[in-house]
Amino acid sequence: SAVLRTEAITKVYRSGTVEVQALRGIDLTLLETEMVVLLGASGSGKSTLLNIIGGLDQPTSGRVFFRDEELTRLSDKALTAFRRDHVGFVFQFYNLVPSLTALENVALVTEIAQRPMRPEDALDRVGLAHRMHHFPAELSGGEQQRVAIARAIAKQPDILLCDEPTGALDSATGRTVLEALVQVNADLGTATVLITHNAAIRTIAHRVISMADGAIVRDEVNATRQAPS
Ligand code: ADP
Ligand code: ADP
Repeated sequence: SAVLRTEAITKVYRSGTVEVQALRGIDLTLLETEMVVLLGASGSGKSTLLNIIGGLDQPTSGRVFFRDEELTRLSDKALTAFRRDHVGFVFQFYNLVPSLTALENVALVTEIAQRPMRPEDALDRVGLAHRMHHFPAELSGGEQQRVAIARAIAKQPDILLCDEPTGALDSATGRTVLEALVQVNADLGTATVLITHNAAIRTIAHRVISMADGAIVRDEVNATRQAPS
């Protein structure tokens, strides 16, 4: 069944007299426990789509559903609550608080979460239990990103959204970060949408969606990976 569904969403950015049509009618269904990779050239609309799915932004037209709830009808306040309770975000930059340890960074989120896991367990899931008392500056880029992933999953979100999480990492380190995401998806069943240019992920995702110029131009199920029910 679907955890999230979009119906004909469009997005137009306006600044002064300039208009950019970033999305041109996206119909997307994300299944529970599915791991989807979003590919496409820079400017094709990937981040815009991810931000709308995650309730960071509203579309110009069309509808978005989280299970039976229509997100596009929610007030800003209700949308903020949706994000807080149901969505984990991972971005290219880790945004860890430098004065807090890895554990304390994760605990910042679990303290306000509805159904948190223990911060130690979240770090363990990304292979960083042995680094929990380290400060961000004492961790490598890949480790810092895995702390950011632990922070994102610690509230046990229904959807995990990752926007170029390996964008600032070399390819070997990037692979360890992607492996952590695949492991989390397999263990926790968190539906995941991942924007990445890292070709390795194509073989491990359940589904690969390609965008061009604000539209979905390909949507392929990966036959070598067991599809979720
Ligand atoms: P990416 O290609 O990874 O999406 P971008 O550099 O295109 O990264 O965008 C980075 C941020 O800047 C995003 O939050 C995006 O919404 C915003 N952005 C992108 N293009 C524009 C623009 N023309 N005007 C204002 N903000 C933009
Ligand atoms: P991608 O993530 O695939 O690089 P984006 O979703 O960031 O694509 O951008 C899609 C289009 O929308 C681009 O033309 C970009 O410049 C434009 N855009 C993105 N964010 C903004 C913004 N905040 N204001 C104006 N234009 C934007």
